[in-house]
Amino acid sequence: MPAIVVVGAQWGDEGKGRVVDDLAQDAHMVARYNGGDNAGHTVVAMGHTLRLHLVPSGILHPHTVCLIGAGVVINPTQLVAELDQLAALGVDVGPERVKLAAAAHVILPTHRALDGAREAARGREAIGTTRRGIGPVYADKAARVGLRAGQMADPEAFGERVLALVQVHNRLLQEHYGLEPLPVGEIVAESVVLAQRLRSYLADGSELVARALAAGQVVLCEGAQGTLLDLDHGTYPYVTSSSCVAGGALTGLGFGPQAVARVVGVAKAYTTRVGAGPFPTELTDEVGDRIRQAGGEYGTTTGRPRRCGWLDFPILRYAAQVNGFTELALTKLDVLTGIHPLKVAVAYERDGERISRFPAEWGAEEVTRWQPVYEEVPGWDEDIRSARRWEDLPPAARAYVERVEEVVGVPVTLIGVGPEREAVILR
Ligand code: GDP
Repeated sequence: MPAIVVVGAQWGDEGKGRVVDDLAQDAHMVARYNGGDNAGHTVVAMGHTLRLHLVPSGILHPHTVCLIGAGVVINPTQLVAELDQLAALGVDVGPERVKLAAAAHVILPTHRALDGAREAARGREAIGTTRRGIGPVYADKAARVGLRAGQMADPEAFGERVLALVQVHNRLLQEHYGLEPLPVGEIVAESVVLAQRLRSYLADGSELVARALAAGQVVLCEGAQGTLLDLDHGTYPYVTSSSCVAGGALTGLGFGPQAVARVVGVAKAYTTRVGAGPFPTELTDEVGDRIRQAGGEYGTTTGRPRRCGWLDFPILRYAAQVNGFTELALTKLDVLTGIHPLKVAVAYERDGERISRFPAEWGAEEVTRWQPVYEEVPGWDEDIRSARRWEDLPPAARAYVERVEEVVGVPVTLIGVGPEREAVILR
């Protein structure tokens, strides 16, 4: 009864979508456990580039059931748009295949407006959120005033609850932020229509997972964002509002830890970050620009250029510790081709003191006090995009991967050498 958890090892955008797509071949259920449509998982397959924000990345494998779990927050407009987009491509997205946990919370237009208002009010201290309403909806959830997907089972009653919450949000927008209220009648009418459309997808998510596990099926748990964006274990306050780490799969889907057979950390062969906050190995020079260009490092959700930098070993070790990785998937190795020399951060230093751990627990301010200590490693010039076996990689690329394995202490079982489904080396 194995569950496999797929987690981002850095600040998100590590290529979890393609790793989930790959692992989904052998899974019965693919279940997303955290975040909302601030995530953007890209799957390049069957002649399409799919950008999924809510529907799990296993959707292209027709044998899978795809669950949007209790820990996820859903923007119903986005979910309907995504289902329509997939249906137009001939993908079966009927209620037998796609399931929406009744306990997942619902994002309203006023959550998005509040997200924007709070970011604007922070001024120079802005977190750099995607302004999708994620922070405010999780805040409402924790304050126990939120709306749950299950309430859409009765669209009219749902409309009434939406009305009440929108009125509260509107008062906040007006009185606290001095903004115009959003049109209540319009939002309520839309919510009723969306509930009518989505209610057939509602399910008891935890029950579905339990049944799958009891039947010996493989449940692939898909995380959004990454370890350093985790609300508890990331570089607070520059984090997202959900549990991105492996433990989030248990709370976000509702099953026990004994079912977890594998925890797959997904890391890029370098590091990127979107939004504000500390990023010790950031490159603000032409090498950073080169990585951004070669890696197409622009946000799936916002189109924002991602900040790029060297691979950071203390981060990977920290992620392995917090999540209990059993293995790593290392993506985008192809992007490093032709860069000489490559650098990797092996430790941190401050006033002569050296540490080999990443001080995320102490928050963003503490992280900025430390400088990375680099080591140079040899690069390679061979085009590796058509490599499909370990032996096809040049020695320097293999040495790079082996160094990661040694430092993190787990095997690298998947190496990405291009965005396409086939551009992968499995070990
Ligand atoms: P996710 O949110 O973790 O799924 O990551 P994103 O989808 O936002 O970002 C990953 C991006 O890298 C996507 O555009 C992928 O198509 C692309 N990608 C994934 N793996 C590889 C790889 O091995 N090489 C290259 N060049 N691109 C990759």
